[in-house]
Amino acid sequence: MSRKDVERAAARSPGTDRVGRVGLVGAGVVVAVEALWLILGLPAGALVSDLGALTVAGWAAIACVAASRRHPTVRRFWLLLSATMALSLAGRALWTSQRLLGESLPHTLPIGLLFAASLLTGTAALFCSVTAPRTRVGRARTLLDGVIVGLALIPIGWLLIFRNVSLADLDEPLRTAGLLYPMFDLMQLTILVAVVGPSRPVWRPMALLGASLTVRAVADTVYVSLVAAGTYQAGTPIDVLWPLSYLLIVAATRMPPPRDHGATEETGEAPLPPWWRVVLPYLPVGGAIVATMLARDAGGHTPMPIFLAMMALLATLALRQGLAANENLRLVLQLRKLAYVDQLTGLPNRLAFIRRLRGALRGTNRVAVLLLDLDGFKQVNDRFGHTTGDTLLSGLSRRMRRAVGDDGLIARIGGDEFAVLVTDGRPLAPERLAERLLRALQPSPGEELVGVHPSASIGIAEYGPQHISHTDLLRDADIAMYAAKAAGKSAYRRCTQGLRESAVSRAELIADLRRAVDEEQLHLEFQPIVDLATGAVRSAEALVRWRHPRLGVLSPARFLPLAEETGLILPIDRWVIHEACRAAATWQERVPSATVAVNIAASHLRRPDLIATVTEATAGAGLAPRALTLELTESALIEGSDAVLDRLGQLRELGIRIAIDDFGTGYSSLSYLHRIPATELKIDRSFVARIPEDTRAYATVEMVTRLAGAFDLGVVAEGVETERQHEAVAAIGCAQGQGYRYGRPASLAELRTVLVDCDPPGVSGVAESGLTLT
Ligand code: C2E
Ligand code: MG
Ligand code: MG
Repeated sequence: MSRKDVERAAARSPGTDRVGRVGLVGAGVVVAVEALWLILGLPAGALVSDLGALTVAGWAAIACVAASRRHPTVRRFWLLLSATMALSLAGRALWTSQRLLGESLPHTLPIGLLFAASLLTGTAALFCSVTAPRTRVGRARTLLDGVIVGLALIPIGWLLIFRNVSLADLDEPLRTAGLLYPMFDLMQLTILVAVVGPSRPVWRPMALLGASLTVRAVADTVYVSLVAAGTYQAGTPIDVLWPLSYLLIVAATRMPPPRDHGATEETGEAPLPPWWRVVLPYLPVGGAIVATMLARDAGGHTPMPIFLAMMALLATLALRQGLAANENLRLVLQLRKLAYVDQLTGLPNRLAFIRRLRGALRGTNRVAVLLLDLDGFKQVNDRFGHTTGDTLLSGLSRRMRRAVGDDGLIARIGGDEFAVLVTDGRPLAPERLAERLLRALQPSPGEELVGVHPSASIGIAEYGPQHISHTDLLRDADIAMYAAKAAGKSAYRRCTQGLRESAVSRAELIADLRRAVDEEQLHLEFQPIVDLATGAVRSAEALVRWRHPRLGVLSPARFLPLAEETGLILPIDRWVIHEACRAAATWQERVPSATVAVNIAASHLRRPDLIATVTEATAGAGLAPRALTLELTESALIEGSDAVLDRLGQLRELGIRIAIDDFGTGYSSLSYLHRIPATELKIDRSFVARIPEDTRAYATVEMVTRLAGAFDLGVVAEGVETERQHEAVAAIGCAQGQGYRYGRPASLAELRTVLVDCDPPGVSGVAESGLTLT
């Protein structure tokens, strides 16, 4: 049984519950009877009030013990409150017995000690409540706030109550000490307010405890003023206030246990206290200063008790201030850590790196920056989730930190981007450091199998003692990093003038590409797809080209990566889909069963509006949806979420055909073939190219063709260039072929001339009968 279960079971026990309820009602009746008795001025009021207080205090002590059993999570709180009640009971009992022996206001040492002890246990109880500060500093701060309020009240109380009473009238010092009760009450009340804090709702026992303390503070204050004025009489109506304050504690024990505080603490930020709560302890200090000035006697002397209280107040304030200053310092350090340290890896972050870099650039020495980007890290995140990504990232960053050692400062400056600052005085060439980093990132034997090991591309920029801004240096490192990426995985490059120039032209190219769609610089070429059995050409793949005003016709490889990076791929793809549909509609005049295939970028597949684009394009061109095939690469499909699968399903329902392009080059997981509603596979041309001499390539094409048959998918052999390749794929039984052997990508007009519906004399005749466009 967990602690919670015990708590619930105990809370439910009907026996104890009934006793508790009867006790509360009984205590309430006692207080009511006493109140009535005292108000009506019935005889033996003093004794009745003593007996009332003793009964309720005694019951409160018992009820608190019972509550400590029911609520094990706040056991100490209730036990300390029980002790407080028991001490009050003992003090009150002693008081009563002394009074009965003839003493009118028996402020004796034992009684004083008992009440003082009850103050201590009561304060300690407050610190054991659920919302109390947990740190030692927090507790000290709260306690000091209480003490400040208490001490500040002495001069104020003095001014208001004792101003006209000479010390000689208060015969013994112990009696004077008894007059400090209101001060302690308010001190406890301040602590209670601080301990409850700004969290809402307030745990109800704390609210009742606050009410109890308030009632007691009123009672003590009235009592002290009456004693000072010499008019206090035991057995008057104010006496009912003490049992009433105990009764409120009995009521508190009946409240449900606190909610699980740990849970809320973890999930949410604790709310900040309102401003008035923060300044509350200091308001009485102002009052104390004014009171001290007003309390000076004719000779300008400050009464001794006030002087002592003010000294103590000053000392406490100084202590509190010291504590606050210390806290502030700690917070500043913590904030600085938050601002400059990457939370995941513990490495310096971008801000810290740039500060260090700027500092280094102000010096007169050489400065090098290595910019490292993890290749393929995004895929890890997409495939295995962010938790795996985070674990991997912190593991890799540890390795890199070790690899860099004392030779530079490594920082994490972006999601999967790291930077190393190498300043002068280190004989190590940045290239050697780059090699060391790449070596450190290589998977160890076991890790290769997991398949989640990204490689890295590193760009190096180095400057001698000359004026350069940190942004320029980082831009150069970035350029070099992109060059390293282009060079393949696990590579590093140093930024050169040549690289810088080509990077500038890259930027220009992006700007030109933005205009290309609007200014109609794009056009399509179509490559025939041939029925291998009959030689009929009923289909073609649309391939985009860019006629650049200065650079001439650019192939997709030149500009599609830029388009993908900048998001321009979306308008380009949309334009291609529309154009291809319009073209196919014209072919159908000649060959009614003609179809067209278009390539769709992965990022486009992730967009819900793909369906609208496709339906608009087919409807606009008057093309039946089944005459359109969307070609998607394996990796685009693998990356796809459930939403992507849904979208593909919807496309299929519309009649659109779906081809898996470059099949065999992506992740070779066959399980996705079951899930993706594809209609055909396009075997990548790398297999077809090796077919005649490489038996394994032959076997692969054969296997994929059979696989396609089993899944009821069409199959297209891509990149058929030679006669031997053609014969091989035809012998294997591929239904369709595409490649230079049958026709290069060509203009719309040329394509129209090769579209053949009926069977030509023979497949090999395709080439002979002039249908190829080579
Ligand atoms: P892909 O979809 O695999 O297209 C086939 C590519 O192979 C075309 O290159 C084509 O010209 C080339 N090819 C065809 N037959 C042969 C052959 O016998 N030998 C050789 N060596 N190559 C052959 P291209 O036009 O340069 O297109 C390259 C890639 O760019 C395409 O690969 C496709 O993934 C992408 N792409 C082309 N047009 C578009 C488009 O409009 N939108 C999108 N998103 N991607 C496109
Ligand atoms: Mg394609
Ligand atoms: Mg392909």
